[in-house]
Amino acid sequence: MLELHNVSKRYKQGKWALQKVSMTLRPGITGLLGPNGAGKSTLMRMLATISRPTAGTITWDGDSISKRADAFRAQMGYLPQDVGVYPQLNAVEFLQYAGALKGLGGPKLKKRILELLELLNLHEVRQRPLGSFSGGMRQRIGIAQALLNDPRLLILDEPTVGLDPEERVRFRSLLTDLSGERIVLLSTHIVSDIEATADQIAILSKGSLLMKTDPSEALRTV
Ligand code: ADP
Ligand code: ADP
Repeated sequence: MLELHNVSKRYKQGKWALQKVSMTLRPGITGLLGPNGAGKSTLMRMLATISRPTAGTITWDGDSISKRADAFRAQMGYLPQDVGVYPQLNAVEFLQYAGALKGLGGPKLKKRILELLELLNLHEVRQRPLGSFSGGMRQRIGIAQALLNDPRLLILDEPTVGLDPEERVRFRSLLTDLSGERIVLLSTHIVSDIEATADQIAILSKGSLLMKTDPSEALRTV
């Protein structure tokens, strides 16, 4: 269980990007909905331990995520909004590199990469350089990267940006397959991305959270 308690963030050259956000994330899909600039990426970067709250605490199974950062990171997967891929590497090479950065390797990593290429329907293009990938393929390789360590917590920052309508539909069914026992947090500014898939919806507006548990009820207020 991931808990945020009064989490606030002020950047050095800026105003408060987040103000006293409190929420609890349990297994299932939480959709984080809000317009550009609402603070979605700010929140996700703190959960991914890339940046720290100015105030407030984030705990994972009761411990602060910064106190036991390595143990937390081993159970967390993150798809950044600006997923950087290496255009010359092919899909397998990229995932091997990403796995090495997470301290994974050997036959276990090889097996996991093949599983993920199958799961994300990238097996046939596994030898192609990432520079030749479409937007949808790039998102899928980014999601594969986030799943390498079979994380209990999966953080996806605007994973549907750049997808065409068909890829968007496929992404929704993938998301449902992925959730299971995982805690999935997914940000988007598109209501329909999460309407059908999310177990709970959190709405961010100007750094403040409006939380509703029932998607249909939450969406009436947007
Ligand atoms: P801080 O250092 O304030 O805690 P982070 O650790 O999250 O913030 O790092 C973000 C860095 O990005 C800041 O140090 C800042 O220099 C830089 N930056 C400033 N303004 C922007 C902006 N609008 N978008 C992205 N990055 C910015
Ligand atoms: P969203 O992901 O919902 O579009 P962001 O978290 O990117 O929102 O941004 C929230 C606010 O914080 C915006 O006003 C943005 O300009 C500001 N901001 C984001 N990153 C930085 C940064 N690194 N440094 C300074 N300000 C930032």
